[in-house]
Amino acid sequence: MPELPDLTVVAEAFHAALAGRRIEAASAPAPLAVRGTPADLIALVGQRVLEIRQRGKFLLIELDVDRVVANPMLSGRFQLAAPAARLPGKTAVVVRFGARPDRPSDAAAWTMGAAWLPGDADPSEIRFRDPTQMGKVYLIPAGLQRPIPGLGPDEIGPDADDPDLDLIAWRDRIRRHTGELKALLRNQAFIAGLGNAYSDEVLHAARLLPMRKRASLAAEEIDDLYRATRDVIAAALPVLRHRVPPLFETQVRDFLAVHLRGGQPCPRCGRRISEIKAGGSVTSFCRGCQV
Ligand SMILES: [Zn+2]
Repeated sequence: MPELPDLTVVAEAFHAALAGRRIEAASAPAPLAVRGTPADLIALVGQRVLEIRQRGKFLLIELDVDRVVANPMLSGRFQLAAPAARLPGKTAVVVRFGARPDRPSDAAAWTMGAAWLPGDADPSEIRFRDPTQMGKVYLIPAGLQRPIPGLGPDEIGPDADDPDLDLIAWRDRIRRHTGELKALLRNQAFIAGLGNAYSDEVLHAARLLPMRKRASLAAEEIDDLYRATRDVIAAALPVLRHRVPPLFETQVRDFLAVHLRGGQPCPRCGRRISEIKAGGSVTSFCRGCQV
């Protein structure tokens, strides 16, 4: 499942590639993924991209009139491709963008001069594809309140890397939540963007066991968890920026320290990494250096 670091890199790249362009065509080969009417989809044509950004586990495309919000869920992936490139199987939504007037001045620095950027005169497409067909693409016409599950004000907290989420705010927020740390980090109402993979990584970096209860944490452990959250995201982004282009649909996870590495030696202490399967997801952790 795409998590905050994955979607941050996609959003940065797509913003650099597509901001300022106008939509030339929009289609839904698998219309079940779309939350909106066929008329809403057609109405996108001619609209200009203002911004593409990540929020929690969502990708948001802000247009000059409407808004498109994608929730990739378990297996949704975004592809950036030339319209002539073969359309992959299980493609649910295709949006084609025309020529670009100027490079957006707020494009992320790492995208500057990248080989995968479409030429300014060349059209480009975002393809949303989803093998399990659980992901959703919400079309939000201007002035329409179409609820997006998971994006309501009570459902989503600050992004895990939100600059406004400082240590003071973290201590205040975490106090309101109980339960096990792994579930806490995955609770989007606490902080948004972490899922099964990066919550394992954060807990390993913080040297805390996933089944520890929040109420059992000492003050310094709460602070350690904050720093680990920021550090893990900051370390992942450069790796993903390097390895996820040019198609952006590849999920790169092989550089992670513990997640899905059960049985292998812990990179910090050498003990074999443990694995627990529950509710269809795997939790990986080290009994040697997490307490
Ligand atoms: Zn260890």
